[in-house]
Amino acid sequence: MIRIYNTLSKKKEDFIPLEEGKVRMYVCGPTVYNFIHIGNARPMIVFDTVRRYLEHKGYEVNFVSNFTDVDDKIIKKANEEGVSAEEISQRYIAECKKDMEGMNIMPATTHPLATQEIDGMIDMISELIDKGDAYAVNGTVYFRTRQFKDYGKLSHKNLDDLQAGNRSLLVSGEDEKEDPLDFVLWKPKKEGEPYWKSPWGDGRPGWHIECSVMSKKYLGEQIDIHGGGEDLIFPHHENEIAQSESCSGKEFARYWMHNAFLNIDNRKMSKSLGNFFTVREISEKYDLQVLRFFMLNAHYRSPLNFSAELMESSKNALERIQTAVDNLKFLAEHASTQEMTPEEAAKAEEAVKYEKAFDDSMDDDFNTADAIAAIFDLVKFANTTADEKSSKAYAETLCEKIQGLCDIMGLITEKKEELLDEDIEKLIEERQAARKAKNFARADEIRAELLEKGIVLEDTREGVKWKRA
Ligand code: AMP
Ligand code: ZN
Repeated sequence: MIRIYNTLSKKKEDFIPLEEGKVRMYVCGPTVYNFIHIGNARPMIVFDTVRRYLEHKGYEVNFVSNFTDVDDKIIKKANEEGVSAEEISQRYIAECKKDMEGMNIMPATTHPLATQEIDGMIDMISELIDKGDAYAVNGTVYFRTRQFKDYGKLSHKNLDDLQAGNRSLLVSGEDEKEDPLDFVLWKPKKEGEPYWKSPWGDGRPGWHIECSVMSKKYLGEQIDIHGGGEDLIFPHHENEIAQSESCSGKEFARYWMHNAFLNIDNRKMSKSLGNFFTVREISEKYDLQVLRFFMLNAHYRSPLNFSAELMESSKNALERIQTAVDNLKFLAEHASTQEMTPEEAAKAEEAVKYEKAFDDSMDDDFNTADAIAAIFDLVKFANTTADEKSSKAYAETLCEKIQGLCDIMGLITEKKEELLDEDIEKLIEERQAARKAKNFARADEIRAELLEKGIVLEDTREGVKWKRA
């Protein structure tokens, strides 16, 4: 039985999906105005691993994760560059997808875009107004927070404390609100900003409404798991609950999962603080599998401090797994016998305990750190029980077991193919020869082939220079 720590109850609970064998899961995605940083990558890696494990357990997972493509920051960036907001968001969605692929994150079942779902948002806002849960003033629509009796149930906040904390808002020009706790569902257009037509005038949606609408559209009124970083608990997820549950009268999400922050020098990594590394920057130094390993080597609810040392030790640890897999493949290929001996069969049976330890750790609120420890126990077992005398079947069985567990973690066990210096030099010589023979097609082909493997050529007066990108 899988147990999940639920932010709602602050307890681990047995996971029982709404519909047997199926999981409906929504994870809030990034706002796309720049390359994603490795803090944004944490929820992506965490929830991709949750999804993979659920699939391993036989569930059919409908996984929805949005891109927030309308937002002040996107508009600001667009104005700075003198291009449209759409151009900015399309560009960074494409870049984000490249990064996700590098981190071996499976594409969601659906990746909806906020700007494509405005009609649904207008419908939901209208419904809230009809029910008396929202009201329009001068082109802005607000949600009547106090009307929702469960407000604060996720963040465990009390309305009166919130009111005290929010008093300053009243002075800052939001006095058209009935109550300082009310939040925005729709805001009027400003000069130079994208807008849509609505019953309350031209404008654009507030941030929270998009997730309520997309979750309902692609997963239904009730879902099993809703995820995101812990900074989203309040107000974003609290507001999503208020909107969705006011509309449907039903519990919105059963299990609320939140990952802790990725920190740097013990402060949250964030774009606004400027203390971030993009995934792209990290990919220049490391295979992104190392980043994935680094993230999964900690429990998702524990803060994680980024450091060069931890990345180096993650690189070494991942290599240990990859080397073990390589060795087992070599042994299987060169084995002198095919079938397992009875002793080997018994050993293979013994190795099942590591797979069980892995599942037990993952069942316990996706404890990926302990699950990785189980993989290492299995690697050690393989290193000490398989050798040149092993049968092909035994080496293969152990190899499949290690690869199977790594696959659930989304960790790729093949080493990235790296060209040796001498191979590169040989190809460069061949390219020079091709150029001399005016076979430019072949010369270009070699250049492209090298580039694909991360080798950049530079033609200089002193000859061809090359470097690893
Ligand atoms: P944003 O683009 O800021 O809306 O964030 C997208 C996702 O990344 C959200 O789930 C955030 O909670 C998460 N996130 C942002 N910064 C961090 C961080 N430093 N550590 C962990 N998660 C983060
Ligand atoms: Zn959201």
